[in-house]
Amino acid sequence: MAIRKVLKYGEPSLREPSKEVHKVSRKISDLVRDLLDTMYAQNGVGLAAPQIGENVRVFVIDVSTNNEPLNPIVFINPKIIKKSGAILSNEGCLSFPEAYTDVKRYKNVMVKALNEHGKPFVMEAKDGTLLARAIQHENDHLDGILFIDHCMNRFETEAVLQKYNLPDLDVDRLIEEKELEEELNKND
Ligand code: ZN
Repeated sequence: MAIRKVLKYGEPSLREPSKEVHKVSRKISDLVRDLLDTMYAQNGVGLAAPQIGENVRVFVIDVSTNNEPLNPIVFINPKIIKKSGAILSNEGCLSFPEAYTDVKRYKNVMVKALNEHGKPFVMEAKDGTLLARAIQHENDHLDGILFIDHCMNRFETEAVLQKYNLPDLDVDRLIEEKELEEELNKND
């Protein structure tokens, strides 16, 4: 359909919570296609609707590698219903060009959502796979949460943002994650 502009960190709407989808209408189908077109054009692994300026609860993920067929997964009104374990994840985001930093994530998640046809499904992603981490990253976008809010090292993250001329880290938004931290320290 169309490759859309990806909003960059600093854009206020990236911090706004998104609204539930009430009906998987033509408008939502068009949005899903735009998300996929935009994600593939940018070689992304995932993209959430607020990143293209639509504050609705929709995101797409494709973790297939270059020599595999495309495998887009569409999540509408997703909810993470189970989470466990902890893993450090080096992440980037299409809204943060070139900037990568280590963030704390759950190792295993179970998510329920509607697919592009409005059909409910449940998906389990284990062992800190790219899929498990991407689900958490994209799901956060729907609540105005960004990956840097989960950063492991505040100073390292601040330096990375500065290096790529992105706005400063908002320290008030850092998420306290005692459980994850304890688990990660155990693993050391
Ligand atoms: Zn992102």
